[in-house]
Amino acid sequence: MEVRSGLLLKCGCCGESFRTWEGYINQDQDDGYGICEPCQAGIMEKYNTDMDVAAMVIEQSLKPENQAKFRAMEPDDRRQIAAQAILDGTLKMTFVKVGP
Ligand SMILES: [Zn+2]
Repeated sequence: MEVRSGLLLKCGCCGESFRTWEGYINQDQDDGYGICEPCQAGIMEKYNTDMDVAAMVIEQSLKPENQAKFRAMEPDDRRQIAAQAILDGTLKMTFVKVGP
């Protein structure tokens, strides 16, 4: 859902206030909250990194001839396949606690 631009919201990620911009998409936060542009970029970057790792795991599980094909795909297509594999349960994301 697109929100009108110029709306003052508080970022649910960093807590800074910001104004929505043209084309801002509602981020499914509580009323008066959203995700500011720098945080959205950070989340996207983190997402892409995670999907790149997932794509690498998929690549390693493929037969050599398919590995080459998979490697030749656009990064976004590889990420799309990785995201789908996680959604349909072929691939599982785990979180590991490191340090004390
Ligand atoms: Zn923020």
